[in-house]
Amino acid sequence: MKERRPIFYDAERVRWRRTRRVMEITGVLLTLLLSYFFVTIAASVDLPAGFLLDVKPPFHALKTAKKKPAAIREGRKRRVANIGKVPESYDPLRSAFYVSWDANSLASLKKHYKDIDLLIPEQLHGVTPDGALTIVDYEHNQNTVKATPTKAIALLREDKLHQWMRSLNPPVELPTMGLLDNYDGVVWRIDEMVALLGNPASRHNLVQNVVEYAVEAHQAGIVVDFEEIPDASQAHFRQFAAELASALHSASLKLMIALPARDDSYDYAFFGKQCDAIILMNYDQHWLTSPPGPIAAQDWFAENLRQVREDVPAQKIVVGIANYAYDWGETAKKGVWSGSEFSVQEALLHAYESETDVEFDEASLNPHYSYSDEQNHVHRVWMLDAVTAYNQLRVCERMGVQGTALWRLGSSDSSLWPIWDTTRPDDAVRQKMTDIPPGPDLSLEGDGDIWHFADTPKAGRRSFTYEAVSDLFTDETYEEYPLSYDIDQIGGTKEKKVALSFDDGPDPRWTPKILDILKEKNAPAVFFVVGAEANQHPDILKREYAEGHEVGNHTFTHPKFDEISHTELKWQLNLTERLIESTLGVKSILFRPPYGIDHQPEYAEEVAQLPLAQDMGYLIPAHRSRRLEHAGRKEPDAGKGNRQQRFETSGEGEHHPAA
Ligand SMILES: [Zn+2]
Repeated sequence: MKERRPIFYDAERVRWRRTRRVMEITGVLLTLLLSYFFVTIAASVDLPAGFLLDVKPPFHALKTAKKKPAAIREGRKRRVANIGKVPESYDPLRSAFYVSWDANSLASLKKHYKDIDLLIPEQLHGVTPDGALTIVDYEHNQNTVKATPTKAIALLREDKLHQWMRSLNPPVELPTMGLLDNYDGVVWRIDEMVALLGNPASRHNLVQNVVEYAVEAHQAGIVVDFEEIPDASQAHFRQFAAELASALHSASLKLMIALPARDDSYDYAFFGKQCDAIILMNYDQHWLTSPPGPIAAQDWFAENLRQVREDVPAQKIVVGIANYAYDWGETAKKGVWSGSEFSVQEALLHAYESETDVEFDEASLNPHYSYSDEQNHVHRVWMLDAVTAYNQLRVCERMGVQGTALWRLGSSDSSLWPIWDTTRPDDAVRQKMTDIPPGPDLSLEGDGDIWHFADTPKAGRRSFTYEAVSDLFTDETYEEYPLSYDIDQIGGTKEKKVALSFDDGPDPRWTPKILDILKEKNAPAVFFVVGAEANQHPDILKREYAEGHEVGNHTFTHPKFDEISHTELKWQLNLTERLIESTLGVKSILFRPPYGIDHQPEYAEEVAQLPLAQDMGYLIPAHRSRRLEHAGRKEPDAGKGNRQQRFETSGEGEHHPAA
């Protein structure tokens, strides 16, 4: 009998070899297919160049060498605790003002929070005669929101500053003294402040509120900046300062009062006695409504300090170091000037654009330049930069003052940071000032809704003359200006047109309904689709296109836009592009980045990815919300050809037509 063997027994292993061969071939094929897939999405889709400007802008990425995370400035708490006391050794406090109304302030703080000891954020306002605590709710555009201390803390917790502080791991803990002023977000309230200061019950009210606030918010104390106090109210202001000082001191908190430089109406000696320190606002020698001139001439600065030093001990003086620019334009009336304030970066950008050299005035040791605008009006610009800060810091050091306060985060020369922190600087420290990193500013020009990047950030360079005898810079030259993002907003029109756009779809529930309405009204729109969604609902995508609407790219997965890498963005765009192309047979040259709700990018980091998209050939519709006055009736005959001329932005996250 023949030996029975299992049917599948394969003594020669012939079948196994065959099977293995098949598997190997399949594997190779799969690998090839996968590779092809990745190559196609890694390689950019060729987009037609018809819509783009002829000139390819000279983009170059910023070289961002991976740096070690900067160490947090040591001894912060000690320096803050020492305010008002004679230090054992010279160890000056570095504090910086922060404002909520300029996004660059937060951008600058994010970069430099480790370099400062004390943050002075504008938080509290005394702008009503009853002495109520008010805050400005910048997120919701509401001025003068009366609030109990607890409510004020709750509201401020939701502002951008606090959201950012919480977002880090561990959360940012920075010694803070909230700023209390008589500014309501728009104007300085003089009359209300006068009424408040003159009424003992109102003063008491404000003092109670402020102290409770500082305690509950775990702050180191309060900084008061009441401006334009009339002579008649000076006595009341002194009373207020004394009452607030005593209340804060019983809660073991500090009080600093910001005072203008060399103004005889102020009793410096009195404030020096009451407060832990005065902050001498040692700037505005020439101001916005005065004729043009140095903002703080070196001699003027030093003399102010010398005079205040006669009345106030050095340990109770914190000196305001200003870093900003004023641009005075000549008005139609001869000899009358109208000023505006700029950040140092903006002022340097204007010098660059007008091809003007910044000069260093040898008398005041302040930089300045002049140019003429489109209407041939002469402008005179004066500024305070890192070089003037260096010179001022030397005076402060010689006087042995308690410290300095930078006015302000977001407007200052970015080359100030490496020198601000040093006492007795040497050549190596001074050498650091030759490099001028670009500021966080975005420069937007034009009135259209398509963003075109004309310049990307580039570091600047300065040379200088240093005089060892006086330890002063006596000259500086901007060899190259630092450049920030320069964005032309193109495609503007005087005609009243509106374009509808919808982000984040296609959505099976809402998009068909929207399409129905658009069809009924004969209104074309742009749908910025998320690739992953479009992949789920190709029929809706097809319908959008078939019914005459434009389709735009809104990335594949709607990632957090400022957190992804260049490579990821490229893949996100290519994947979505391939999907649109394979579903519709056409490519899209429209890309709208996925930002948060109604959010328009305001500072450099937020737009860092966009030049890449532009380089890939995309048109980038701006992400801004417009007010109703811009919205006109839809032109029924707006043909497909000119539909891309103008974009209105809808919010994120849900489908709704732009207002
Ligand atoms: Zn979106």
